[in-house]
Amino acid sequence: MSARIVISADGEKAFESWRQAFASVAPEVEVCSWYDPTWEPRPDDYALVWKPKPEHMERLAQMKGIVCTGAGVDHLLAHTGFPRHVPLVRMGGEQTARLMADYVLWAVIGLLRDARTWAVQQQQGLWRNNVRSQPSNMTRVGVMGLGHLGAYVAQVLANVGFCVSGWKRSPAELDGVTVKHGMENLPAFLADVDVLVNLLPATPATDGLIDYTFLSHLPKGAGFVNVGRGRHVVQEDLLRALDDGTLSGAVLDVVTPEPLPESNALWRHPRITITPHVASEASRGMQARYVADVVACLAQGEKPALLCDVKRGY
Ligand code: NDP
Repeated sequence: MSARIVISADGEKAFESWRQAFASVAPEVEVCSWYDPTWEPRPDDYALVWKPKPEHMERLAQMKGIVCTGAGVDHLLAHTGFPRHVPLVRMGGEQTARLMADYVLWAVIGLLRDARTWAVQQQQGLWRNNVRSQPSNMTRVGVMGLGHLGAYVAQVLANVGFCVSGWKRSPAELDGVTVKHGMENLPAFLADVDVLVNLLPATPATDGLIDYTFLSHLPKGAGFVNVGRGRHVVQEDLLRALDDGTLSGAVLDVVTPEPLPESNALWRHPRITITPHVASEASRGMQARYVADVVACLAQGEKPALLCDVKRGY
């Protein structure tokens, strides 16, 4: 019996658009809705999920593989009932990385030119000549996390002309990027960046990592882009750092909690730009093609590039 993809991602109503996407880009793949009352698990079933419900866990344990529509799988691993023995693969693909690089470029250049101030001035009808003359080739950008997304983002920034460094858990080499690794080298990495980009995964080791002491290692007035997870940041410490000039500005695509309540102080801070977790989401067609390739790889007994190491947590 050939592989079948059972889809719960984005809820019952989204199935039809997933079905159409698979039909157009991967017609060879059989799909079915997790919510179809007639569905009975088969030995070659693979699940496509985002945030499965607790009552889905028992059946997920019978799957041959699980593909998540997100690149971060912390929410799945945090669930006590999640079947950790089933191969779990994260969302990836060229478009996901490209979209993330586009977003980070926008955010870094916006911080460099203080675009936030222009937006505030425009709301007030204020014409104030506040030119910033620091070009990209004289700007140091540090990328934390050099995985599937971080490595790509770092190289795109380097190709644009930024002076790029990166920080990760284990040693590595990356063309055009100065790489540091481990907690012992974190202060030195931070001391050498004008704009810091966070692309770490959420794990017990990275939760709350970005606090006031951490931010104090940056050169005074650095910029901060968070596209990793809101949980990495101690929110009061970020606000303190923005208020006392430790940071000159922040662009946040991820916050805690999501959606961010209307009453949260982050919304109204003049030095913060918030986007609603939109940095990188490939089109449904691109995601369907990627999922079909991952399932074909698993069905052949091979290891997909973005197979999650559940012990490591990413
Ligand atoms: P990967 O798992 O491919 O890469 C993770 C990187 O982080 C690796 O380089 C790893 O180092 C490093 N890392 C992990 N733990 C530590 C640690 N304790 N100290 C130092 N470095 C560490 O992840 P992706 O690049 O695919 O994605 C990164 C994150 O981006 C996701 O987990 C998610 O949170 C976020 N994301 C956000 C999106 C958005 O729209 N805002 C969209 C997609 C993802 P090493 O290689 O040495 O193990």
